[in-house]
Amino acid sequence: MSYKMMDEIVYPCTKCKMDLNHRIIHIEDDQPKRLLCLTCKTERAYRAPKIKKEGSAKVKRAPSKSSVAARKQTEKNLHDQWTQKLSASQRKPKNYRVDGDYALEDILSHPTFGNGIITHLVFPDKIEVFFGEDIKLLKCGKFAQK
Ligand SMILES: [Zn+2]
Repeated sequence: MSYKMMDEIVYPCTKCKMDLNHRIIHIEDDQPKRLLCLTCKTERAYRAPKIKKEGSAKVKRAPSKSSVAARKQTEKNLHDQWTQKLSASQRKPKNYRVDGDYALEDILSHPTFGNGIITHLVFPDKIEVFFGEDIKLLKCGKFAQK
């Protein structure tokens, strides 16, 4: 579908909070870019509906890629969060022992991996420890039953 300047289309107005007639006041490549709500006279950017024709050259990202990006972002946030907790922790590092008794967010001093922070208690006898790069699953003493 192509558009012309000054065409009127029905588009959701965020100010009036309903679908209203808008006038196209700016066009690029036959697509509306800016609209004017005929009711409240506010300008807004036009966004094409999400469903696009197949083969459209204007699709920027495939959905799978953006979900991978979103997951990477989450991993990065988690990574940053633990890095911050590790560096800000006031707890005294505990030496790692296979029969050690640990609690969540304890700081662990490991002979190979260095200092880490306990991110998960894995019942009955393992801990997940964040060492700045990787999360390792380590054996420890059995947790007391709650
Ligand atoms: Zn409006």
